[in-house]
Amino acid sequence: MRIGVIGLQGAVSEHIEITKTAMKKLGISGNVVWVGRAKDLENVDGIIIPGGESTTIGKLMKKVGIFDAVQKLGRDGLPILGTCAGMIVLAKHGDEQVERTRQPLLELMDIEITRNAFGGQRESFEADLEIPKMNAKNVRGVFIRAPAIKRVWGGAEVLAEFNGKIIAAKQENMIAVAFHPELTTETWLHEYFLKACRDRKNGGVS
Ligand code: GLN
Repeated sequence: MRIGVIGLQGAVSEHIEITKTAMKKLGISGNVVWVGRAKDLENVDGIIIPGGESTTIGKLMKKVGIFDAVQKLGRDGLPILGTCAGMIVLAKHGDEQVERTRQPLLELMDIEITRNAFGGQRESFEADLEIPKMNAKNVRGVFIRAPAIKRVWGGAEVLAEFNGKIIAAKQENMIAVAFHPELTTETWLHEYFLKACRDRKNGGVS
């Protein structure tokens, strides 16, 4: 299996490491690659868009020429995991911050996001989360200038809420979470994602 982590800005190496650990735990052989140009996306079975600064990530994806390719792969059903800024990049609609910065969105998920929904850097926090829909009990959520999902429609399904805000959603093979699982030692989310990648790979390209 080959998983690509969009490696233009943000928590890239953390995602690569934790994905490798999750692969080992699941007994999946394969590699996790740093995606910096279109060629790196060849034959990937899943893509991770990390947390960081969504404005920068989106604009750099355009600049290095991978934006359209990732969008097409997502539309074709390739599993994509977006965490924090990655969640924003996956969204179909943003807020006034998104409009002001004219940051490009992949528009792959039927979700509307609010950037910095929990406040700024000083309002960053950690919390224990229960996400029954993902079989996750008492997992650590690290929220850093985290976004939230204002609403979902169409094919998107809410997976988790925290303090009255939607913090995780799913649409077909795409998963978006507002927090940073790669900054903990817990592999639950990456295992969940890798299982989706494995299922799709085994089921062939459809
Ligand atoms: N606030 C950032 C943004 O809007 C996301 C923060 C993060 O990824 N930790 O892009």
